[in-house]
Amino acid sequence: MVSIRCGNYGFDCDFVSLGEIEGVIFDYWQHMNDTHGIDYSKETIGKFVTKKLPKPIQQN
Ligand SMILES: [Zn+2]
Repeated sequence: MVSIRCGNYGFDCDFVSLGEIEGVIFDYWQHMNDTHGIDYSKETIGKFVTKKLPKPIQQN
């Protein structure tokens, strides 16, 4: 089980996702698109979730 908190990545946002890794990646990916309008790749989101990247890379 993994979790991700959007606020940890520099957003003023309460979104939290928790569960199996694939589900969390998908949830956060969808959240990024819907709420923040940022189209990260699922690979990038995967790295945030597994903490291989400390912060998302700003793409805009
Ligand atoms: Zn957010």
